[in-house]
Formats: sequence, C-alpha cells, structure tokens
Amino acid sequence: MNTKPRFWDKHESWEEAEIQWDIRADSLKELHPIKTLKKLPNLPAIRPKTAKNLKWKALKYLAEHDKDKFFINYFFKYPFRHTYNLTSSYLKDKPFKKDGDFFLYEMESEAEFKQLLKRQDTLLVIGFSYCHKPFECPSGRFTKECIHDEENPVCGQCFIGKCVHSLPEERVIPVFIITVHHIGEEIVGAVEAHPDKEVIFLITACEMTLQMFGDWGNMVKVKGIGVRLDGQICNTMKAFVASEFGVKPGMAVVLDETQKRMLNLIELRRESEQGA
Ligand code: SF4
Repeated sequence: MNTKPRFWDKHESWEEAEIQWDIRADSLKELHPIKTLKKLPNLPAIRPKTAKNLKWKALKYLAEHDKDKFFINYFFKYPFRHTYNLTSSYLKDKPFKKDGDFFLYEMESEAEFKQLLKRQDTLLVIGFSYCHKPFECPSGRFTKECIHDEENPVCGQCFIGKCVHSLPEERVIPVFIITVHHIGEEIVGAVEAHPDKEVIFLITACEMTLQMFGDWGNMVKVKGIGVRLDGQICNTMKAFVASEFGVKPGMAVVLDETQKRMLNLIELRRESEQGA
C-alpha cells in the first residue's frame, strides 16, 4: 500500500481537493489519454437463461471454489445462526433493497448507511472490483494491489485513485477485489478481527454478482451498499467465471451520477473522522 500522503490531506477542504483533482484529471486526459468506454453498451444485467436458478448456481460456485474451506468452516462456526440468517434471506424476493445503482443490504435506506458512516464504532470496508481498473493500471488489473501513485498519469485519471486519495486513514479498509471469495474473506476477516466494531461495507460489483452473493452477505448480517457497475459487465455464468480467473477483456464503469453518490459517502466518512 502506498504510504505517501493522500491528495485530499494536502488541501484545506473537500471542495478544494476535488476541484484540484478534477482539473488535474482533465489535463492528464489530454496529455496521457487512457482507454475508456466510448459508448455504454446497454447490456441486460443478467441474461434470461443465466437468471434461472441463480441462487443454486451461486451456492454451487461458492462451494466448488472454496479452496481453503474458508466459507464452509465459517458457516459451521455458528451453524444455527448462519442457517437462520441464510434461510431468512433466501425467503425474501431479493437479498437487497434497490435505490438506483445502490443495492442496500440489511438496511432500508441510504440515510441509514449515512448514520453508520458517522459513528465512531463502525469500520468501513470499501472495495473496488478490478473490472473497473483502467487497462493501463500500473498495479495490473487482476491483482489485489493499487499503488494510487499521485505522480502516475493513469492513477490521476482513475476513479478508484480519486476515491482512495479522498479516504480518511482511520477506520477504513480499502480492498481491490479480484474474486467473490476475496471480498467475502475480507469482510468476514474484518468482522472476526474487530469484535468491538460494527463492520459496514461499500463495494462495487456487477449486478449479477450483487444478486448472486447477496444472501451470503446477509448470512453474516453485515450492513452495506453494493454499487452497480455499468459498461461491459458480466451477465452470464461463463463470463462471470472467466472474470473470476482474471479474463476480463471488457471495461466496467461506475456511472457519473453514481460516482458522485459514492464520493458523497466518502466525504461524510472523512468529516466524521475529522470531527472525532
Ligand atoms: S489508482 Fe487506479 S490506475 Fe492507479 S493503481 Fe489504483 S486502480 Fe490502478
């Protein structure tokens, strides 16, 4: 992890930092253009054939790829509680409540999440899917790394870089997600390692993933928001499985309005840290 001061730390206010970041990003776009999506492909979130028996497909996928038996061991650590939570989630029509591109888990509204962000006893896991890293990412796309180097012209144009540079240092765990098992292990790991804190999450992912694995998040009873990715998303099992092994030729994106909503949540967290 890059330990240099973050861009936002060098500015007096959130507004000033964001204006300066955006001016820099615009000039970098001219000087060092990177590959971007020229047009949104408008794909269905999940292909109809793939949508059939999706919960079963999710369970099968998790079990078959649980290499170190992480999930099965965690499930049997609290078998009654987990069975109850999982069954309750399965019985609902959907494992989340949808608010635009925000998928709310174990919560009724974004306002509820904002209250959690303000609390000092919460620990935020913020995760970014590798599918929206730039193709030119200096850390590589299918990796758990993000150097978010301020001097690097790609990082200076990257939405993930902007988020990381605006995050507060304390009570936040940034994760650069490569697989569902990876983010699952990070969230469960945080819950287990910090029993004195309430773990909450904000993660980006394709809608299909948010739908497939939402029940498993609800099993752990962690509150959070899944942010829907647009662009060249995975909407079939074949594409999803390939992406889990690093084969992702397309570019997913967080839509502009949704970027603003995410940054608004980070700003709130940052303010709560400064007021602590
Ligand atoms: S900020 Fe973006 S481009 Fe830079 S290392 Fe992180 S993901 Fe890659």
